[in-house]
Amino acid sequence: MKNKLVKALKKTALGVLVFGMPYLCIMLFPGLLFAHKIEYRQCIVYSDKKIDSEIIEIIDSSLTRMSKSELYDTSQQFRLFICNDLRRFWIFTQGSALAGAVAQYNFTRDIFFRPCDIPNNKIIPPKEWYFADNPFTFKDRPLTYYFAHEMTHVMQSRYTGRGSWKYPTWLTEGYADYIGKGENFNFQENLRLWHSHAPELDPSKGLYRLYHLKVCYLLDHKGASIKDIYQNIPNDTILTDEVWNLYMAN
Ligand SMILES: [Zn+2]
Repeated sequence: MKNKLVKALKKTALGVLVFGMPYLCIMLFPGLLFAHKIEYRQCIVYSDKKIDSEIIEIIDSSLTRMSKSELYDTSQQFRLFICNDLRRFWIFTQGSALAGAVAQYNFTRDIFFRPCDIPNNKIIPPKEWYFADNPFTFKDRPLTYYFAHEMTHVMQSRYTGRGSWKYPTWLTEGYADYIGKGENFNFQENLRLWHSHAPELDPSKGLYRLYHLKVCYLLDHKGASIKDIYQNIPNDTILTDEVWNLYMAN
């Protein structure tokens, strides 16, 4: 019995060594597997196909959005990887094939994107997305938004340290959307949509507008700073009621 256990443990250790070590290496040095690369300002963008020149404008406008954040400074570097091959995206995101982009903010802080259309400033959504065929829900989410949203996650991770599980999703995603969307957010309109039970305000349908509302309320209406919020995170139930009741109050 004991021998069987030892054998099983040895097999597992061998499995981890054979499959885990190469995977760890590619996660630590993903740049080796991307043939194209552009370095501009604080960003290094890698891609598995030639990078269109419009990437420069996308980086510029993403950094402009991020410069509004207290967590931003010009010394920060970001590494972004565009995976036009979905299998590549799947590998680097541990199977998150339906995500728009994934920042490895608890590990290397590298960011991986699903296939993109750089000249048109768009990501190419999977057909499984609830809003995949609704162009209006992409108006406020060009590729610039995805760049700024994911780089904000990296800034959050640098500020709080790795360990995103310690923070509520409404704060992590709400703040990344608050910075990522720039001026493209109408608080009153989204509050109205929430009250009419619109799917756009249901996070289970894939959008973070409800989280964005909460963060926007704390920062713009209550005058908090993001560092204040991290130091004293509000109770979600109380916050949800406060924001919901704002509609009644107006
Ligand atoms: Zn996010």
